[in-house]
Amino acid sequence: MKGVTILGATGSIGINTLDVMSRYPGEYRIVALTANSEVERLYRQCQAFQPQYAVMANEIAAEQLAGRLRDDMPDVQVLSGVAGLEQVAALEQVDIVMAAIVGAAGLLPTLAAARSGKRILLANKEALVVAGHIFMEEVRGNGAELLPIDSEHNAIFQCMPAGFEDGLAEVGVQRIMLTSSGGPFLQVPAEEFPSITPDQACAHPNWAMGRKISVDSATMMNKGLEVIEACLLFSTTPDKVQVVIHPQSVIHSMVEYLDGSVLAQLGAPDMRIPIAHALAWPKRIESGAERLDLFEIARLDFEAPDLERFPCLAYAFEAASRDDTAAVIMNAANEEAVSAFLDNAILFPDIPRVIRRALDELSPRQAASIEEVLHDDQRAREHAREIIKGIKSDYCK
Ligand code: NAD
Ligand code: MG
Repeated sequence: MKGVTILGATGSIGINTLDVMSRYPGEYRIVALTANSEVERLYRQCQAFQPQYAVMANEIAAEQLAGRLRDDMPDVQVLSGVAGLEQVAALEQVDIVMAAIVGAAGLLPTLAAARSGKRILLANKEALVVAGHIFMEEVRGNGAELLPIDSEHNAIFQCMPAGFEDGLAEVGVQRIMLTSSGGPFLQVPAEEFPSITPDQACAHPNWAMGRKISVDSATMMNKGLEVIEACLLFSTTPDKVQVVIHPQSVIHSMVEYLDGSVLAQLGAPDMRIPIAHALAWPKRIESGAERLDLFEIARLDFEAPDLERFPCLAYAFEAASRDDTAAVIMNAANEEAVSAFLDNAILFPDIPRVIRRALDELSPRQAASIEEVLHDDQRAREHAREIIKGIKSDYCK
C-alpha cells in the first residue's frame, strides 16, 4: 500500500485525485488531507477516507474541524498552518504527495515533499514557477520524483524519450509544442474585454477547474505559467517551446524530434487521466475518464496565439528567458490581480496592466535561496495591491 498526502484535497484536482484513488482501495492509503478553510468539505472527506491527519491552513478553520471530528473520528489528528502542511508532506509513511494547493501558498509544503524525497504529483504550477531552479535542485538532490499533473506537461512527459533529464538535444528532441484551448475569449475582440464578468471568465469551454486557474486560462497567463513550467521540468529554454492554440483540447501537447517526427498525447479533457498516469507510473490504471470518440470529434484545429489581445503570455515568455525573480514578481502580481478581479474590484483588462506595472516598477534580482524568493513574492504582492488600489480609486472618480 502506498501512503498518500493530498495537499489541496478540497479543490478540483484534490477531488479528482480522491476519485481515481478510490478505484484502487488496496493500492493507496490516504495518510493526510489538507485544505485552506473549507471545514465542511474536509470533514466529509475525512468521513469517506479516514486519514491519519487532517490539516487546515487557516487556524480558525482548524479549530472548527477539530470540533467536528472530536466525537465521531477522534483518531484523526488535526494540524494547522504552513507548519502542519509541511509536516504531512514529509511524513515517513507517505510515499506520494499530490501538490494541488493553488498559488504560491503551496510552495513550502511542496518543497517539504521534495526535501523528503517523495514522489510528487505536481499540479501546483505556481510553486514551481516561483521557486524555479531552487526547487528542481531540491528534487534532484533529495532523490524525489517529480511527475507533472498539468495535462500539457503530463502529455509532454509521456511523449519524451528515456533519458530526457540529461538534456533534450542529447535525446534528439528539438522542441515542445504546448497546446492551449485559447480559453473562453479566443474569439472575443479586445474592445469587449472590459465588460467580461468573473463568472464569464470562469466558464472554460473544455475544462472544469478552480476559479483562479480558470481566470488564468481566460487571460492566457495559465499558458504563460506553463511555458515556464515546461522549461523547468524539461530543462529547456523558451525558444524551444511553441504555444499552439488548439480549441478542441484533444491533443494535450506534443514533442517534436530532430528527424521531423512529432509525438502527441491525446485524451478526453479529464484531469483524472494525468492523475492516474502519475499515481501509478510506470504502470497504467483505470482513471474513470471517457474514451475518445474520434468520429465524434471529427476535426482538430490549430492556430497561433494572439499576443496583442493576450499580453500575459508575452510577459511570461519574457520572464522565462530570465534567470532572476521576474517570474516571482509576475506570478505574485497575477495572483493579486486575479483575486481583485474575482472580487469585482478591477476589470478583466486590468489584470495584464497590474502585472506589466509590477514588472516595470520592481527590480528583479538573482535569488539564491527560498527566503529570497519569498521576500520578492511578498514585496511584489504589496506593490501589486498598491497598483490595484490606484486603479480602484480611478474608477470611483
Ligand atoms: P481549487 O481552487 O479548486 O483548489 C485549491 C485547493 O488549495 C483547495 O483545496 C484549497 O483549500 C487549497 N488552498 C487554497 N489556498 C490555500 C492556502 N493559502 N493554503 C493552503 N491551501 C490552500 O484549485 P484547482 O483548480 O484544484 O488547482 C490547484 C492547482 O492545480 C493550481 O495550481 C492549478 O494551477 C493546478 N492545475 C489545476 C487544474 C485543474 O483542472 N483544476 C489543471 C492543471 C493544473
Ligand atoms: Mg494545463
